[in-house]
Amino acid sequence: MNAMNAKRLLIIALVTLFLFGLAGGAFILWYRGGGLSQSNDPINRWFTDPASRPGLTTVMNRVGCPEAPFILPSDGLIGLLWNDPAAPYTLMNTHTGIDVFGDGEPGTVPVYAAYPGWLSRLPDWRSSVIIRHDDPLQPGRTIWTYYTHMASQDGSQSYIDEAFPPGTVEQPVEQGVLLGYQGEFAGTGRPPIGLHLHFSIVLSDDEGSFRNEAVIGNTVDPSPYFGMRLNITDAPRRPITCVIGE
Ligand SMILES: [Zn+2]
Repeated sequence: MNAMNAKRLLIIALVTLFLFGLAGGAFILWYRGGGLSQSNDPINRWFTDPASRPGLTTVMNRVGCPEAPFILPSDGLIGLLWNDPAAPYTLMNTHTGIDVFGDGEPGTVPVYAAYPGWLSRLPDWRSSVIIRHDDPLQPGRTIWTYYTHMASQDGSQSYIDEAFPPGTVEQPVEQGVLLGYQGEFAGTGRPPIGLHLHFSIVLSDDEGSFRNEAVIGNTVDPSPYFGMRLNITDAPRRPITCVIGE
């Protein structure tokens, strides 16, 4: 082999390695996004065939899973999961929490505090509250639980309990306290969504306030807090149940 051929071989080897690297990176991205998420299938069934609802519903009635610190904040179909790329989300912009689709009219499906803490509601929040907690799984760390869509379609009627008016700051709440009811409001200027609760666990910023919960990196996997498979990577079947006792 002369020097010219050796050089050509080396270049071919490097290009091949590079292409394998690209393919591997794309696969990891796809895998971490849960592969092809199936979450829209049960959600579509939920809305097109109400008879399917009992068979899709997780009912916890404010009782937590064994050895789990949090209780499920609302009963229903746990449709979109954490890090879920299912529409309207994408692989590059995955879902940051869980969506629990309740069976009932707007303003009737209760939403409860998942864990004791200190509740705040910003002055312009029509459908959302957030609770600060000492992280039960990482003592010393502060986390927040965020609850939203608790208002009528156009946002004119809030379904948040009157104990928590706009401007509420750091009001102590017990686990299981009624926060409000599921609604269909998705924010001013946005089309209404199917009745559900969006719930996420949010990290603190350096000043001790909550980070932007719409960014996946600012949230944490809720699975260990609930003792349920709520990460899309686990591809759980619906209805989702407690890991212990599965
Ligand atoms: Zn959501």
